[in-house]
Amino acid sequence: MRSIATKLTLAFLLVGLTGAILVAVIVQVRTRSAFNQFLLNREQQALVNSLVQYYQRSNSWQGVIRDLVETGLQDSFESNSRDLRRDWNRFVLVGPDGMIIFSPQVRQIGQQISARDLEKSLALVSDGETIGWLLLETGLRVWVPDAAETLFLRNLTAASLLSALVAVLLALALGSLLAYTLTRSLRELTEATVEIADGRLGKQVKVRTQDELGELAASFNKMSKDLERATQARRQMTADIAHDLRSPLSVLTGYSEALSDGKLVGDPEIYQILNQETRHLGRLIDDLRTLSLADSGELPLLLQPIAPAELLTRAANAHRVQADTCQITFTVDAEPGLPEIRVDVERMAQVLGNLLRNALRYTPQGGKIMLSARRVGEQICLAVSDNGVGITPQDLPYIFDRSYRGDQARQSVEGETGLGLAIVRSLVEAQGGVIEVESQVGSGSTFKVLFQSSGQTSAPLSR
Ligand code: ADP
Repeated sequence: MRSIATKLTLAFLLVGLTGAILVAVIVQVRTRSAFNQFLLNREQQALVNSLVQYYQRSNSWQGVIRDLVETGLQDSFESNSRDLRRDWNRFVLVGPDGMIIFSPQVRQIGQQISARDLEKSLALVSDGETIGWLLLETGLRVWVPDAAETLFLRNLTAASLLSALVAVLLALALGSLLAYTLTRSLRELTEATVEIADGRLGKQVKVRTQDELGELAASFNKMSKDLERATQARRQMTADIAHDLRSPLSVLTGYSEALSDGKLVGDPEIYQILNQETRHLGRLIDDLRTLSLADSGELPLLLQPIAPAELLTRAANAHRVQADTCQITFTVDAEPGLPEIRVDVERMAQVLGNLLRNALRYTPQGGKIMLSARRVGEQICLAVSDNGVGITPQDLPYIFDRSYRGDQARQSVEGETGLGLAIVRSLVEAQGGVIEVESQVGSGSTFKVLFQSSGQTSAPLSR
């Protein structure tokens, strides 16, 4: 298989060669015919001059036939006598009265010339008086170049061939240069792809141009970086999940072994620990299952129109007690007359529940949490705001990543799996929504979930 570079070079060479040959042939043909015409005109003029001179000398056409037939007028022609001698029987001489004086076809002599032939004839003029007409049969003529003309034509052919050669060499040089530059980026991309296929992720190529190849290289670099990041995140997540699963498991194993060996006597506190760890394990497994279903697009969803205010009330009712326990002020505020949104009510309870649990977790005693719903353009925005600890700008871009925990020191907080926000995002996106976050350390965070409104206005909020 030939490389693209060879193919491109060959294509350029072929185009150059064809162009050069075409130009050379056209120049040759055109020059020959123009040259032929030029000589013909010159010879015609010479013949006309000679005939006019003959007439002026003899004052009539008397004897012109004899002179033409016997001497071929050669004495009269100073130049090109070679051709004219050959041409003498190729013209028709007509007197001023339109009578044919001389013609190669003897039987025409003495006859009147036809109007059509007269139109094609050249007038022989002496002292402003038309002394006759000359009809030339130029079409039949075959021009045979003499030595000087042959030399001229040979030089012309050589010049055409030389320019054709230069054109071919230029096409070859330009073709190979272009082919090399075009294929260099492709070669680099191929090598980088092979490296990635071999597991060396994150490989970057140089973006050399601003054209389609440059765009391809830039997209490749982005893809390579994303792939590296995703693979890194997946490895990290697997390690984290293994760790998260191991922690409650080792607690459960330790306690159960100690209980069965009789080293420990069961009491309510131990049973509560066992129950807590089992629930944590169950939550982890549920979260992983939800995520994997969302990833494969198989998350069962029952989309139905519902008033945003109703979603907020349900979520608030489920968490009000916990907020009261933590002495956190909990408010719900829904703009009146909001249109309904099409969502899965259970999944939305999970979304708002996760956001509320986080808000409760990261808001100190005496803080405030607000659940709100309002219209933003064509969309409905459900927001969970708190005035808690906030999220650092470094953590903010990653909080929706799986297993990402903002503050490593908080890893042991009960109920955390590090998958909460990843699940929230998957659930929101599966229902056609978008999730955004705004946060400032020390001031609090606002998580906004945006859905397209279904158009129908909902009933006012009942608290
Ligand atoms: P986790 O189970 O650790 O809470 P999440 O995915 O729910 O996992 O959250 C990821 C990280 O985002 C948390 O570890 C925390 O650092 C940060 N975070 C989420 N919600 C809030 C909030 N309301 N206030 C401050 N930080 C938050």
